[in-house]
Amino acid sequence: MIVVIGSGISGLIIGKKVNANLILEEQPLIGGVLAFDSIFGIEIPYILPITYKPFQLNNFEFKYKEYEINIVYRKYEYFHNKICEFCEELPKWLTFDSVKKIYIIENIPEFIYELSRNMKIVKEYPIRIDENKIITNKGNVYRFSKIYNTGSLKRISRLLGLDTSFLGHISAFTLLILAKRKENNKDWNVYLSGDSAETYAVVIRIDDVIKDFQLYYIYSFLRTNQKNMDIERILVDLKRRQIISPNEIVAFRSRLLSEAILFGHLNEKVPINMINCGRLGEWRNYSIDETILRAQNC
Ligand SMILES: Cc1cc2nc3c(=O)[nH]c(=O)nc-3n(C[C@H](O)[C@H](O)[C@H](O)COP(=O)(O)OP(=O)(O)OC[C@H]3O[C@@H](n4cnc5c(N)ncnc54)[C@H](O)[C@@H]3O)c2cc1C
Repeated sequence: MIVVIGSGISGLIIGKKVNANLILEEQPLIGGVLAFDSIFGIEIPYILPITYKPFQLNNFEFKYKEYEINIVYRKYEYFHNKICEFCEELPKWLTFDSVKKIYIIENIPEFIYELSRNMKIVKEYPIRIDENKIITNKGNVYRFSKIYNTGSLKRISRLLGLDTSFLGHISAFTLLILAKRKENNKDWNVYLSGDSAETYAVVIRIDDVIKDFQLYYIYSFLRTNQKNMDIERILVDLKRRQIISPNEIVAFRSRLLSEAILFGHLNEKVPINMINCGRLGEWRNYSIDETILRAQNC
């Protein structure tokens, strides 16, 4: 039996490619970072799927929307360290370096539906892995011939008794806000802040997804010992900077991604028939296009 761990785009692509018997997913939603929810009947991903260069696949056509970007930088010299002082570089999708245009992938939910069709996905995660069997948190035992791990390298390696002390991560708190349209904030659509007085580091605003409303994506990164982020504080900071005022908010969705920015590496070899793949499996800050390429070749 071939088992895939994780139902992000890596796990789903690999699952289809190798004809996996089972995908184990620890979260209630599928799609991993690119999971989505419905707001006013429109399926909207929890993070804004941005690429700097459109790409296509043979068997699926991505739809893109192009945006000129106008960035406001605030205390940008501290931006890198505010997000991750241990990282040599920040993920490409976070920096907007030398970028004038971005492309939003509009049909990520369709992509995930298409990949997950006919796939057996169970909402369980491994609590023990032996040479040929996985025991899950729901008490089920799955015998495997091969595992493709696209879930957390840190947690899976720990189950295998490996030394994970060199694998580090920074958590992200993502907030998606739908607000009434304002006409007086047209001068920027990306706001990058290294200011330690502001809870968030990134705000992206999109004006044309839902008529009469603006969609804001707000990313905050937690300090090493911080367990969660206080939404109230984010809202106070957004109001103070005149970005959004609480009375303009119509709907919001928040999500904590505990392993969002990854650094370090595993020093030991995996002792069972398991291939680590994707963002969490390889512990690399891949962007969507890199993830797809890796998953196809894994
Ligand atoms: C905040 C944020 C914003 C981003 N924005 C962009 C962007 O704009 N553009 C871009 O190109 N890229 C972006 N990325 C990167 C992009 O989202 C990823 O490259 C891609 O989604 C990775 O897919 P994946 O399947 O490899 O990993 P993930 O999406 O992380 O999926 C891994 C899955 O494995 C599950 N899992 C983990 N551990 C276990 C376990 N032990 N047992 C069972 N299941 C487990 C998780 O619940 C998850 O569903 C962003 C990433 C983050 C964190």
